[in-house]
Amino acid sequence: MLHPIDLHAHSSASDGLLSPSLLVQRAFEKGIKILALTDHDTIEGLPEAKQQAITLGIELIDGIELSCVWSGITIHLLGYGFNAQSPEFIHLLETMNQARWLRANKIAEKLHQKGMIDLLDCACAYKQSLSTIANPPGRLHFAEAMVQKGYVKTHKEAFQKWLGNGKIGDIKQHWLELTTVTRVLKQSNAWISLAHPYQYNMTRSKLSKLLSEFITCGGQAMEVVNGFQPDQQVGKLTTLCRNFGLLATAGSDFHTPNNWTELGLYRPLPIDLPPLYTKWPKVNTLLKQND
Ligand code: AMP
Ligand code: MN
Ligand code: MN
Ligand code: MN
Repeated sequence: MLHPIDLHAHSSASDGLLSPSLLVQRAFEKGIKILALTDHDTIEGLPEAKQQAITLGIELIDGIELSCVWSGITIHLLGYGFNAQSPEFIHLLETMNQARWLRANKIAEKLHQKGMIDLLDCACAYKQSLSTIANPPGRLHFAEAMVQKGYVKTHKEAFQKWLGNGKIGDIKQHWLELTTVTRVLKQSNAWISLAHPYQYNMTRSKLSKLLSEFITCGGQAMEVVNGFQPDQQVGKLTTLCRNFGLLATAGSDFHTPNNWTELGLYRPLPIDLPPLYTKWPKVNTLLKQND
């Protein structure tokens, strides 16, 4: 189902393939009226995206997907509508940028120990070929570097063998704690949604513990629908969302054209769940006009 709103998408400012303006252009072509750009740990794509959104007449929501750690597990938090001028937020972004550079070096070092050479240079070159925004390479750029060097055949294989959860290239030590990141988001007046809770491979009781701590930290929503995740997962997350009285978000988590995701394409949110955007008057008005 194609939706006029998408609250989860990446540009080449982080690990998406399209520049911010091409991403917004694609959203426009897909009939999207409201798009949140949620790059990993950076807002550097927002000015270019905003400019293109104004040109094409679509509403761009300032967003970010922040990495953090909870109970030794890497967690992603979606932040929306923050005050990007808040000193705490600016400081957080600087810290995240440094953390990502340190992590990139560490990933390269770990993979070097396994006989894979020059991956950092190759990942940086790939990242630079996609964007003039000089952000550190992420795991997806390392996956591409491994393909280019012939160490693996596909990105999937790179994640399965080397970069995925718990593998040697999955370096968590540089991330801040969930409590720290949520505190800064609250200080910056952001709305916070817990991204793709199913991807953390937690037991139900562990996920419940995470959700209650997330709420204690001021988290308001959870991402009940992420792209084409199976119905059964959406069902389980719906129950948790209801039980915890959270607001719901949904989005495609788009990274790459003609891949397994597309802007505006995701399973619908169950109708009894209150979407986070019901708290955003401008978005409500735009969606009503679109009805
Ligand atoms: P990072 O933010 O650098 O830790 O990288 C996480 C990103 O890697 C995710 O947002 C996805 O874009 C990508 N990713 C994670 N798992 C996989 C996978 N199994 N296959 C392909 N890409 C993946
Ligand atoms: Mn990504
Ligand atoms: Mn994520
Ligand atoms: Mn994402």
